[in-house]
Formats: sequence, C-alpha cells, structure tokens
Amino acid sequence: RFPRRRSGRLFRRAHPHRSAQPAPAHGRLAGMSGLRFEVLIPHGQIQQRVAELGRQINADYAGRSLVMVGVLKGSFMFLADLIRHIDVPLRIEFIGTRSYEGTTTSGQVQLTKDLDRPIVDEDVLLVEDIIDTGLTLNYLSHLLEQRQPRSLKTVAFLDKPSRRRIDVHGDYVGFTIEDRFVIGYGLDFEQRYRNLRDLCVLVP
Ligand code: 5GP
Repeated sequence: RFPRRRSGRLFRRAHPHRSAQPAPAHGRLAGMSGLRFEVLIPHGQIQQRVAELGRQINADYAGRSLVMVGVLKGSFMFLADLIRHIDVPLRIEFIGTRSYEGTTTSGQVQLTKDLDRPIVDEDVLLVEDIIDTGLTLNYLSHLLEQRQPRSLKTVAFLDKPSRRRIDVHGDYVGFTIEDRFVIGYGLDFEQRYRNLRDLCVLVP
C-alpha cells in the first residue's frame, strides 16, 4: 500500500534525499584535480535559444515531415530538447563518427554507427553538437547526400567558425562561440561532464 500524501500525490518519491540537484555554476571538476570550469552559456539561455530554433524549424518545414539525425554522442541532449519544440511529424535516427589525427593526415573522420533505416526522399535534418573544423559535417553531408534524401539541412547547437578547415556551415546555429574548449549540455571532456546543465569552458 502506498501512503497517500495530503497533496494527493499517489506515489512517494523512492529516494527523497536524491532529488536532482542543479549542476554547480562553476568550480573544480570532481575527480580531475587542477581542472576548473566556468559557465559560458547558462541553462536558461540555452533553453530559450533551443525554443527559437524549434519555432524556426516548424515554420520552415510546415506541412512536411522530418527525419532528424543526431550525431553521437555530443548532440543527444540538444536533440532531446529541440524535438520537444518541433511539431511537424518526425522520426529520429542516430549516426556516429570518430575523428582522429593520423601521422600523415591532417584529420580523418570514421563512421562508428550508421543509420538504421533509409532516408530516400525524406527531408533530413542533421543534428550536430558543434561545428569545429567542419570535417565531421563535411564527411556526413557527403555520406547522407549519397542516400538520396529529398533535402538535407544541418542544425548545430554551436559553431566555432575560427577553427574551420573546410568551408561548411550550419543552416541553423544555436550559438557562435570563440575558440574555447567547451563541455556540458552533451559535450564531453574525456567522455565525462556531458551531464552539466550549462555550457561551460575549461579554464587552463
Ligand atoms: P569537427 O572538428 O569535425 O567539426 O568536430 C568534430 C567533433 O569534435 C564535434 O562533433 C565535437 O564532438 C568535438 N568537438 C569540437 N569542439 C569541441 C569542444 O569545444 N568541446 C567538446 N567537448 N567537443 C568538441
């Protein structure tokens, strides 16, 4: 039997002491002594901008439907927030890449996970965390164009144009930032800190 609260809530929270805490606004990264981070874009500002992007996409794709392709892993949080503001019918796909610097190459992109279903004749929106050198977007847009979508556009949460090595651009961009290494809101430092609610910068 679940005890009924006076508020009328049916279920008791399993661990009331473990309720979600907002991420600290700044501080030392737990378990990484010597590294500090500062908030670059606070959560509320991110949410406002994501809602704006959603409205823009709704207007541009009115009467159509979308396949939204999230680029793993960095885009998962942006994608999850963005689709809650999109009201055209859509389905979700994920694609994975890894970039590496070879000894003789300046930067290569490798596919680590392909789409599950075809995108022929579909309106496709590629969802990126950040456009940095542009190598990933360049690689993925060529790859997806070969699959003959009806249209292909890109939405990127962040853009770092000063780092570009290939002339590519996002059709929708959340924020343009300077050349700083950012973490949080899906973006990692050595696979950690993706869960920070704010976009943060590492302070050397
Ligand atoms: P590209 O250089 O191909 O445009 O970007 C490749 C990937 O590098 C991005 O999708 C992102 O995952 C990662 N990346 C680029 N800049 C940053 C950054 O400032 N912070 C983090 N965490 N990842 C980044």
